[in-house]
Amino acid sequence: MGRTVGIDLGTTNSEVAIVENGQARVLPGDDGDLMLPSCVGFSDTGKLVVGREALRQYAAAPDRTVRSIKRWMGTDHKTTLRVGGTESDETRDYLPHEISAMILRALKQRAETTLGEDVTQAVITVPAYFTDAQRQATKTAGEIAGLEVLQIINEPTAAALTYDVRSEETEQVLVYDLGGGTFDVSVVEITGDVTEVLASHGNNRLGGDDFDRRLQLHLAERFRQTHSVDVPDDLATQARLLRAAEQVKITLSSHAFASVREAFLGSKGKTALHLETEIARSDFEELIRPLLEETLEAIDRALADADLEPEDLDRVILVGGSTRIPLVQQMVEEHLGQSPVDGVQPDLCVALGAALQAGVLMGEAVEAILVDVIPHSLGISAAVTTPIGVMPGFFSVIIPRNSVVPVSRSEIYSTVSDDQPAVEIEIFQGENQVAEENVPLGSYRVEGLAPGPAGSHQIEVNFDFDLNGILTVTTTEKGKGQQGTLVVNYEGIQRLSSHELKQARADLDALFEADETIATAAIPLDPELTALIERAQQSLTTLAPEQAEELQNLLDQLETAIAIGETDPIADLQEELADFLYYATTNNP
Ligand code: AMP
Repeated sequence: MGRTVGIDLGTTNSEVAIVENGQARVLPGDDGDLMLPSCVGFSDTGKLVVGREALRQYAAAPDRTVRSIKRWMGTDHKTTLRVGGTESDETRDYLPHEISAMILRALKQRAETTLGEDVTQAVITVPAYFTDAQRQATKTAGEIAGLEVLQIINEPTAAALTYDVRSEETEQVLVYDLGGGTFDVSVVEITGDVTEVLASHGNNRLGGDDFDRRLQLHLAERFRQTHSVDVPDDLATQARLLRAAEQVKITLSSHAFASVREAFLGSKGKTALHLETEIARSDFEELIRPLLEETLEAIDRALADADLEPEDLDRVILVGGSTRIPLVQQMVEEHLGQSPVDGVQPDLCVALGAALQAGVLMGEAVEAILVDVIPHSLGISAAVTTPIGVMPGFFSVIIPRNSVVPVSRSEIYSTVSDDQPAVEIEIFQGENQVAEENVPLGSYRVEGLAPGPAGSHQIEVNFDFDLNGILTVTTTEKGKGQQGTLVVNYEGIQRLSSHELKQARADLDALFEADETIATAAIPLDPELTALIERAQQSLTTLAPEQAEELQNLLDQLETAIAIGETDPIADLQEELADFLYYATTNNP
């Protein structure tokens, strides 16, 4: 018999997880990505593609690609897909469970490749409101994919399992799940191994995709205001704008503002027009607030149906990628009067819970799930204003200890004296309020600040701590763009089970002596980027002077980013360059 896995078959993304040595973990694909976009298609040569590759072709080839099939599960809705790149190519009809089977098959394959053994059985999750027909269709999809479906469990139940809700006491738990395309809120009652869904509400047409679309319209309006022309209404341009909108949204979850630069988005006569603007988190929050208010009404309905008041809830759990948005957390907390539990990543906890359940069914000693935490707070030295004047040297925490990694947080600081020409960013780890009493990790200066009164320059300091224990510190002067980056190799990451986590949270201070070294970034250039730069350099001679100048400017920015080893800007500029070349060469055959 092969291995048993837990699967979150989501509307936007799906994941597969296993239990190993009593602990659950999500398995990555070849690309290292833990999430597989729930998207299926045929390439222009007729090859079946599932996941990111399918998602990439979605905008350009909607007749060969399908996403969000979960909405149709349990119905006989047919999806017609063209199998190949030309109009004359054959089309085929698929039922929803047949498409879902392809996603499940891809997950099974992912697990088999990672584990090096057969995967034959699975626990699969579904929304609490799924009917019998929808559950049956999910089971059938699993069987088509070559999996014996041991159990179909509710997503909120799976999420709750990852939070150790297995006590003998009865607990009332509210699970708020906001993903890419759907929103559900469930109230579950858990006693030992028995979980009962008391009430469930939601909107299966509300999620992060709606936020992206609102932001897309907002960006289009900014473009129109700047240039007095509309963004072209063609599929490719709108797809670019939507992609930029999603990126801005994600950036704003950890930054107070995000800059957008989409070169050559439109034209006026022969003049190329670019979208260059900055979006503040507060702008974005105003766009999505009405949608989030709807989710609060659903919470009230679910609580009323369960005959409970907010204060009856023992825990509030956030699930789904869109709950990473700070305003979501804030509104749920204010509405319910308690903060959601902090712990497992919101987009992985359903899959982890499914794996735990699979482990239980297989009789394994399932204890916990794997959580990586930062054992010491990370921050910078800053001055604070007190009644007796400005006091320097305070430790301003940016990432609090015990944060689950990966984590990205930022804070905004202002200059404290008039005409202050520079700001020293000194990074420390520790818990002492006096910065110098903590362990220094590195420092650098942000220079060249224009003269101005105290407080006139706002500098955002962003800490990005990844799964490999790398801390990247980035400073951005508001309105001016990025100023500097420092990469710190931080070895002190710990792997804890969630049981151990609780214990460890109490005595972490004593646990750890960091062995950190400071390194500057050295990023090997990937061959795709090298080829792109070569292609761009060749195009310089064939383009109209105005476009050539724009291209040279992009190449210069890229060269600077590569020289100082800024990973994110390199990726952004690479994408911008690819878009530019695509556009410029399509319009100048
Ligand atoms: P899920 O369906 O749970 O996989 O969630 C997918 C949705 O979460 C998509 O709309 C993503 O754009 C969104 N998402 C993922 N990460 C973030 C983030 N850091 N901030 C805001 N939205 C995010």
